[in-house]
Amino acid sequence: NDILVKVENIKKYFALDSGVMGDKGEVVHAVDDVSLEIKENETLALVGESGCGKSTLGRLLIRLLDPSSGHIYYKGEDISQYSNRKMRKTRKEMQIIFQDPFASLNPRMRIIDIIAEPLTTHIRMSQKEKKQRVSELMKLVGLRSEYMMRYPHMFSGGQRQRIGIARAIALNPKFIVCDEPVSALDVSIQSQVINLLQDLQEQKDLTYLFISHDLNIVSHISDRVCVMFLGKVMEIGDTHEVYEHPLHPYTKFLLAASPVPDPHLRNQKKLVLKGEIPSPIHVPSGCRFHTRCPFAREICKEKEPPLVTREGRSISCHFPLE
Ligand code: SF4
Ligand code: MG
Repeated sequence: NDILVKVENIKKYFALDSGVMGDKGEVVHAVDDVSLEIKENETLALVGESGCGKSTLGRLLIRLLDPSSGHIYYKGEDISQYSNRKMRKTRKEMQIIFQDPFASLNPRMRIIDIIAEPLTTHIRMSQKEKKQRVSELMKLVGLRSEYMMRYPHMFSGGQRQRIGIARAIALNPKFIVCDEPVSALDVSIQSQVINLLQDLQEQKDLTYLFISHDLNIVSHISDRVCVMFLGKVMEIGDTHEVYEHPLHPYTKFLLAASPVPDPHLRNQKKLVLKGEIPSPIHVPSGCRFHTRCPFAREICKEKEPPLVTREGRSISCHFPLE
């Protein structure tokens, strides 16, 4: 498949205190030199512990945040410096689905206006056309269109997320960042929403960046998986291959710590990490995982391992597992 979205050496640093970077104020290295590609029609999952920069990276890809440096390509075009005006057309093709379907819906707006909002900002349409289009979208996400005049609080969590999805697909996007789209939902509802996302992907040729900390869901939905730690990519590869044979110690730890219902994985030896997650303000030298890695040697403290790609698998580690 062709590459739809590509990032090169993207960084996002936030300055604390003084607000001036390079000044005494401390700097959060939220996303720290990430390069990756997302192919047309695939689902790339982004996993890692909270605070590792997943959501920031997702927002950078669709230019909801401006990068500190680096490049973002959409369909081969460098959009990293596009002005808001220039982004308008591209933005129609890029959408986001948020984690909390309640916080992301305006409680004072009717469902019809929430779903139609992206449409009416881009296209002039009559009230009749708007109703027609919203009705189609509601059906597409499994909601009854008679409810379009209601307000968000009258819907359950799962229904609210369906409303968020209807809004996200209103402009026929190609690329959707799904930021923990089911983590706020009851487990019983999660698989319904996941199935809906998968159906829509098939029907509408969508490409997803699927941000999640739930490795079980990721194993169902994603083609490839990208593991992040402290703003950096540790490993990228085919989801099943990575799950079966993680090559980065951090990936192995994440898999061992998660209740994945696969007997093969359950039997893998547990990996116990030392200490706590370091702060993204004081990033450890060399391999930023070295303070926690049970396999760390001297060189790991001194030299940052580059991301090396072999046979479709990328790993950033001096001593990959075998
Ligand atoms: Fe562990 Fe060293 Fe690999 Fe980092 S580079 S993950 S510290 S073995
Ligand atoms: Mg997040």
